[in-house]
Amino acid sequence: MVDLQTQYQKIKAEIDLAISNVLTHGAYINGADVSEFSELLSTYLGGCKVIPCANGTDALQIAFMSLGLQPGDEIIVPAFTYVATAEVIGLLGLKPVLVDVDASDFNLNMAHVRSAITSRTTAIVPVHLFGQCANMEQVLELANEYGLYVIEDVAQALGADYYFRDGSIKKAGTIGHIGCTSFFPSKNLGCYGDGGAIFTDDEQLAAKIKMIANHGQERKYIHKYIGVNSRLDTIQASVLKVKLKYFKEYILARQDAAEVYDRLLSDINQIVIPNRNLSSTHVFHQYTITIRNGLRDELKKYLEEKGIPTMVYYPVPLNEQEAFSKICSIASSGLEQTKQLCNSVLSLPIHTEMNQEQQIFIAGTIKDFFN
Ligand SMILES: *Cc1c(COP(=O)(O)O)cnc(C)c1O
Repeated sequence: MVDLQTQYQKIKAEIDLAISNVLTHGAYINGADVSEFSELLSTYLGGCKVIPCANGTDALQIAFMSLGLQPGDEIIVPAFTYVATAEVIGLLGLKPVLVDVDASDFNLNMAHVRSAITSRTTAIVPVHLFGQCANMEQVLELANEYGLYVIEDVAQALGADYYFRDGSIKKAGTIGHIGCTSFFPSKNLGCYGDGGAIFTDDEQLAAKIKMIANHGQERKYIHKYIGVNSRLDTIQASVLKVKLKYFKEYILARQDAAEVYDRLLSDINQIVIPNRNLSSTHVFHQYTITIRNGLRDELKKYLEEKGIPTMVYYPVPLNEQEAFSKICSIASSGLEQTKQLCNSVLSLPIHTEMNQEQQIFIAGTIKDFFN
């Protein structure tokens, strides 16, 4: 699905030097690379505060911890997402309210979000799934109207641009009150272990988030909040500093590969290729097709036999997971699209090192299956 080794070989000299510098100077935790990377990422994102942490799941958890929410508060999340988004909500005693997505872009259906808002709703969590932004214009409108927090899960869409109707452009993850991302190796900006970060424009909130990520510590041995221990280690920050230089290139490579797939697959009637929204760029964390005729699992198996890996993100809706069935509630508009997508989506290999030959082989094999 990804080819991280070939990517590494191309930047090996820089990465090896960065890591060996850390090994030599010995500041394995909170070394200079951590703050330097945070500042470089902040500049890339347009100047927001960047608080690094240990992984994307922690980023979400710390974000929720920073907002002073009360047990039972309702948090609107898409039913079609990675488990982490809703997991931290449950962990903190908050109530995930699962809302259906639009089959066209796999993101929150805004009409359904509106109808899911109650007097207990305190936040909306748009997940920019597969690399394309949710409808942030409408998310912000609803948040303003009802006084809700907006926490963006940008783990799959770091680097995407969102275009507002007034012509302004913002980076995904810097639009709501807080943005949360992951540097898991296969993410668009990945390190060689675990890592994550939290974004906000609010300086006071940033200070609180920073404390919560460090045992709620205001200054040494003075603890203002109940916090967690969640750090991006120096080696991972040194890797990310190098990879951030190539991030624009990496996004372009994914977008190019997506266009090649589009061309090769667009004439197959049985599949739907990923739709592009006018309001957002797509950074293609995943290239996810939808199979119309109920043969998704057969196609997956056929491709596997021909040596082509594919993945189903996500096979089971959150409400059908044992862990969530008791604690979440389902929006009254139902989860029809989510249910269908879980049975019909298939993500094809996409990464920075794809070549056309591989893609021609993959597309040809998909065609063979349908013929
Ligand atoms: C990867 C991912 C996360 C969690 O990130 P980790 O670093 O693995 O904890 C959260 N949300 C989404 C949508 C993700 O894709």
